[in-house]
Amino acid sequence: MAKKKWKPESLMTPHLKNPEWYEKTIKEPIFQTSTYGFNSAEEGEQFFKRVYGGKELNSGNKTRLIYSRFSFPNLISLESKFPLLDNGEDSAFFNTGMAAISTMFMALLKPGDLILKSEPMYGGSDHFIKDFLKKWGVDYLSFNPDHTQTQILSRIRKRSKTGIALGYIETPCNPTNDLIDIEMVSKVCKALSSKKRQIPLVVDNTFLGPIGQKPLDQGADLSVYSASKYIGGHGDLVAGAVSGKEGLVSKVKALRYSLGNMAEPNTAWMLNRSLETLTLRMQKQFSNAEAIAGFLKRSKAIKSIKYPGLSGELSKKEKVIYNKQCLGPGAMIGFEVNGGKEKAFKFLNNLELIRLAVSLGGTESNAQHPWTMSHSNVPIKDRKKWGISPSFIRLSVGVENAEDLVQDLQNSLKKSGIA
Ligand SMILES: *Cc1c(COP(=O)(O)O)cnc(C)c1O
Repeated sequence: MAKKKWKPESLMTPHLKNPEWYEKTIKEPIFQTSTYGFNSAEEGEQFFKRVYGGKELNSGNKTRLIYSRFSFPNLISLESKFPLLDNGEDSAFFNTGMAAISTMFMALLKPGDLILKSEPMYGGSDHFIKDFLKKWGVDYLSFNPDHTQTQILSRIRKRSKTGIALGYIETPCNPTNDLIDIEMVSKVCKALSSKKRQIPLVVDNTFLGPIGQKPLDQGADLSVYSASKYIGGHGDLVAGAVSGKEGLVSKVKALRYSLGNMAEPNTAWMLNRSLETLTLRMQKQFSNAEAIAGFLKRSKAIKSIKYPGLSGELSKKEKVIYNKQCLGPGAMIGFEVNGGKEKAFKFLNNLELIRLAVSLGGTESNAQHPWTMSHSNVPIKDRKKWGISPSFIRLSVGVENAEDLVQDLQNSLKKSGIA
């Protein structure tokens, strides 16, 4: 393949496509309009034939604008730029990460299907699979980071004659940072695929983002993201994305046309702005997190720490996975303080610079308590099995000064009587 002329991060700046829409403004205007006029009735007929015929509205060099639930320029720039970062063929953006994930599942599954899922998993996705999908006739089979390819295959064969319809994994897992081997699970999906029935592998890549991991290069068919996290990155919006194989993305988009849960013009504009600094922000967040993880590792107040960048804390298997698929250590740190829930709460209440809030991946650092907050809707037995204890804290590291962040953590540990 010919070497690409420009690197992806150079192509995140605005409007290399369709300059005639923008009157040479440097930043894209927000297309705050619900509808678009047709040049002729014949053109209107043709556009509707495409969209209701399940065809992409905007393919090749041709852009067809009808109505903002289907498409609009801010969304088109976003969806054509984003895949350059994670090597997808196309992408679709939604009004939240859960909208992206639930629409993907509903577009690719039908009642009677069985899906393979990894654990631990983000509480919202876990709940959607175990509660909503189950009620609609889609069952699941879980595996954990210790399972091997052979074990997973034999569990599936024992469970179902027809196999699985889809593999869904999250790595690193929210909130524990466990690592799952993407290539290994893609081999499981391939082993169960036939010419007639390809089993897609979908990876939730929220935790490392398109800069820290490219699941599509490791055998995944789709990546899904909560764009409320690193991609938006400023803690000022909620959004989601699906990126990957064109045929699968277009199935997801077709359902989105009906559900109407696309990212709207203001959010799409904000996300285009955010893509310009995504690489820069994530690099700074990764290096800040490495400094903090080093401090926590040395601190006597900490019972355990899970951070992919601390190779001494990874198992032999995790080290192999890390070297194979992670392009950076991430900026999410999971750790347990000495003492139980009471000490964990004191520690959170005594932080000054780091905010006590859920969400992650923003320019601001956040800390929260998964046991009572983000993962409180996961059954207690699963929380215990996954290593989420009442003394477990999840920290998302932002772009502030690294020494200040370490100082804040140190002060709070001291004030709380932990250190
Ligand atoms: C936050 C998150 C989601 C859900 O995204 P929303 O934008 O909050 O709907 C899904 N997966 C992971 C790993 C997350 O961290």
